[in-house]
Amino acid sequence: MSETYGIPRPSLRRLPIYYRHLIEMAERQVPYVSSKDLGQNAGVPASQVRKDLSYLHEYGRPGVGYDTKALAGYLEEFLGLANDKEAILVGVGNLGRALTLYPGFAQYGLQIIALFDIDPAKIGQTVGDREVLPMFKLVDLARRLKVQMGIITVPPHAAQEVASAMVSGGIKVIWNFAPCKLTVPAEVLVKSEDLAAELAALSHHIMRRSQVLAPATE
Ligand code: ATP
Repeated sequence: MSETYGIPRPSLRRLPIYYRHLIEMAERQVPYVSSKDLGQNAGVPASQVRKDLSYLHEYGRPGVGYDTKALAGYLEEFLGLANDKEAILVGVGNLGRALTLYPGFAQYGLQIIALFDIDPAKIGQTVGDREVLPMFKLVDLARRLKVQMGIITVPPHAAQEVASAMVSGGIKVIWNFAPCKLTVPAEVLVKSEDLAAELAALSHHIMRRSQVLAPATE
């Protein structure tokens, strides 16, 4: 199974789900959370939660559970959520705009500090309180501000060119929303979200369900 920092990837992916639940519980002043409760929320059995958290050397107390605030704090540190991460976003279309205006990223320490687009009609406009900048400013700005993350929301045919500009700007992590494969140096991490592929999977599921539920025709 593939691992990141010694933790199986499925376990790593569940940690932010546990974290979100712990924050909610902390807000409701719940002092302890059981592995069963964390598991129900993440859709896995309690034994899996205990296994996931044991990779971090975090063990709950039998009959009491995990200290809500302590575990939330530990996960925050482990996942680097408390560190501010500055990102730039390229492609201020519908998706780019929605991500820019999404307030939930702040909870994970992500701040989109600059927007770029190639369309002269968009350059100079503001989204939230950020002005859309022309592409020729990207490399210099990313280098100067030591931007850690680049978010790509351009059409697929333009994504490689944008990724290459981000790499030239010293960006080491790319969050790619364009449905295409990017070629980047080995030290650059690319995480791609293919919304169309996810939708295709859902469409297929809906079709299969409606076939199963459809009344038989004579
Ligand atoms: P809109 O209709 O507002 O353009 P959209 O979501 O339909 O929105 P897309 O065609 O997906 O637009 O493009 C997303 C954005 O990416 C657009 O704002 C477009 O100008 C921008 N874009 C396209 N090519 C590039 C490029 N090479 N570099 C930077 N931005 C680009």
